[in-house]
Amino acid sequence: MSPTASDSPLPQAQANPLLKAWQTPLETPPFHEIAPEHFLPAFEQAFADHSAEIAAITHDPATPDFANTITALERSGKLLSKVTAVFYDLVSAHSNPAILEIDKEVSIRMARHWNPIMMNAVLFGRIAMLHEKRAALGLTGEQMRLLERTYTRFHRAGAGLDEAAKARMAEINERLAHLGTTFSHHVLGDEQDWFMELGEDDRAGLSDSFIAAAKADAEERGMAGKAIVTLSRSSVEPFLKTAARRDLREKVFRAFTARGDNGNANDNNAVIVEILALREEAAKILGFPTYAAYRLEDSMAKTPEAVRGLLERVWKPARAQALADRDAMQALIAAEGGNFALASWDWRYYAEKLRQAKANFDDAAIKPYLVLDHMIEAAFDCATRLFGITFEERKDIPVWHPDVRVWEVRDREGQHKALFYGDYYARPSKRSGAWMTSLRDQQKLDGRVAPLVINVCNFARGAGGEPSLLSPDDARTLFHEFGHGLHGMLSDVTYPSLSGTSVFTDFVELPSQLYEHWQEQPAVLQKFARHYQTGEPLPEDLLERFIAARKFNQGFATVEFVSSALIDLEFHTQPAAASRDVRAFEQAELDKIGMPAEIALRHRPTQFGHIFSGDHYASGYYSYMWSEVMDADAFGAFEEAGDIFDPATAKRLHDDIYSSGGSRDPEEAYVAFRGREPEPDALLRRRGLLESAEAA
Ligand SMILES: [Zn+2]
Repeated sequence: MSPTASDSPLPQAQANPLLKAWQTPLETPPFHEIAPEHFLPAFEQAFADHSAEIAAITHDPATPDFANTITALERSGKLLSKVTAVFYDLVSAHSNPAILEIDKEVSIRMARHWNPIMMNAVLFGRIAMLHEKRAALGLTGEQMRLLERTYTRFHRAGAGLDEAAKARMAEINERLAHLGTTFSHHVLGDEQDWFMELGEDDRAGLSDSFIAAAKADAEERGMAGKAIVTLSRSSVEPFLKTAARRDLREKVFRAFTARGDNGNANDNNAVIVEILALREEAAKILGFPTYAAYRLEDSMAKTPEAVRGLLERVWKPARAQALADRDAMQALIAAEGGNFALASWDWRYYAEKLRQAKANFDDAAIKPYLVLDHMIEAAFDCATRLFGITFEERKDIPVWHPDVRVWEVRDREGQHKALFYGDYYARPSKRSGAWMTSLRDQQKLDGRVAPLVINVCNFARGAGGEPSLLSPDDARTLFHEFGHGLHGMLSDVTYPSLSGTSVFTDFVELPSQLYEHWQEQPAVLQKFARHYQTGEPLPEDLLERFIAARKFNQGFATVEFVSSALIDLEFHTQPAAASRDVRAFEQAELDKIGMPAEIALRHRPTQFGHIFSGDHYASGYYSYMWSEVMDADAFGAFEEAGDIFDPATAKRLHDDIYSSGGSRDPEEAYVAFRGREPEPDALLRRRGLLESAEAA
């Protein structure tokens, strides 16, 4: 956004860049012209346009058919999609107090706009009638899927309810929208409020690259010359892994796990209680015993029991492995002459020591070889070798922050395919985590529309002209988000609502997690992992140790993830009244599953944005693991072919998974790619937990 725009008087509608045709290259959003005050008037206009389009479909006197109802719905809301995509990109990746204030208003307005559409009885009547006689409509496979998805979406939103129930649903949705926004603002608030300055005495164990990043973080917050730890995961995790000062590790760990739970204005406990009660009420209105039953009906897993089955199968061997690792770390502490019990803030630190002792490998040794720019190249190169697409950086595309880079993506024939925006560095205006989103989705309903795909990460910047160096986890995250990016960029469907990542939540992590596998292949690392100073390739023995070390500490990683997934499931299967005291509920659940005291949830409830910032992952956090069953199995297809870029396998992967979006049933798409159902043990094998599973 232009820094001077807010000084100008309120723009007239015709001057609002969100409402004009975009004259930028490839009609990308003109971020340099967009200011916060443009959003509310643009949303007003977009809501009005969309409502008029919906009214025209609803009141069309012609007999409902696929074209005048389903296709017409797909064509509606173009302006709204456009404004929404730009707005939420800024809310997440580059917000400011003005944007966050507008976000509060927009979330409620959005609910108020969508409620009457999703519960429009006349419109639903048309959709239901078409759905009823769908077999006789002569539809293509994609059209059939679209009709089924549209019907399901309206039905599940409550379009078939009586008026009183609909009115209550509308109130609930509006309130939930407000609460979700509040939840994420609270977490962001606690993250922005906190930092810990690192004096000279506080830096034992910390790498030069960590200090450089800590200085960059300080500078970003107006404390040039100092070095700070922040509550961004990319600051906290390396600190906990390497800081020798136990007291400081405890301080950082406590602040990190207390986000949203500090009894201050950002406290999320009451927000959670209200969200859970409203979700339960909504599920009951819609005829489901629990919110989890409601949500999972529309997923690959289908039922809470199926989810619990998967999580419990993984939990036992993971816990056994974690307890064995804990004992080994406690022995290490004793051997060093330490006289204390391993605590949560010690785990990452001693796990690193143990890894050095056992596998003679630590993250710090490999970091100088994982230069951000080279890892981006590696991600691109794998996509070129698998799918034939190429990347060329463009400097003429407007961006929302100077750090953002843009590449033009072309297909095998050299035709324009997509734009890829990469926003890699952490900054205070960005929420934590890493994600993929889009400014425009692929579709070809009325001519080809090329997607504008975004990856946002929170990597530490290199300081003083040094390149940014990634940890192995960061490098994996880069490939993960790029895998989602490919799902958006390679999408080749007709209808916008089936585009790219518009698939079940428990399928959406397959393209991303599968892509991580290429990052850890020797052939890829040999080519792209080069020392940032000398340009030397990763030495052979370090490479081998790196790959072997991948399976290290998987008990911990699996325990912290699965416990979070189980708590998510329990929040949404038990009566909401059971979790009125969120902390007590959390503790009771941890006791129930035998959570090792030395491991914390990956996301404690008050910071669990996946499930409380919105409903996308609510009772869906297990999805990562559900997808992992498939990705661990799917990469096996390349291994069996004897070539990690095997062209025939890559073509099936493209056709059945990456390009088909939501146009097919996911199970059917997977079986088409693999020739069979996924084999569940692949997940345990990949995590090195198969032996513990057999022993458990
Ligand atoms: Zn993901």
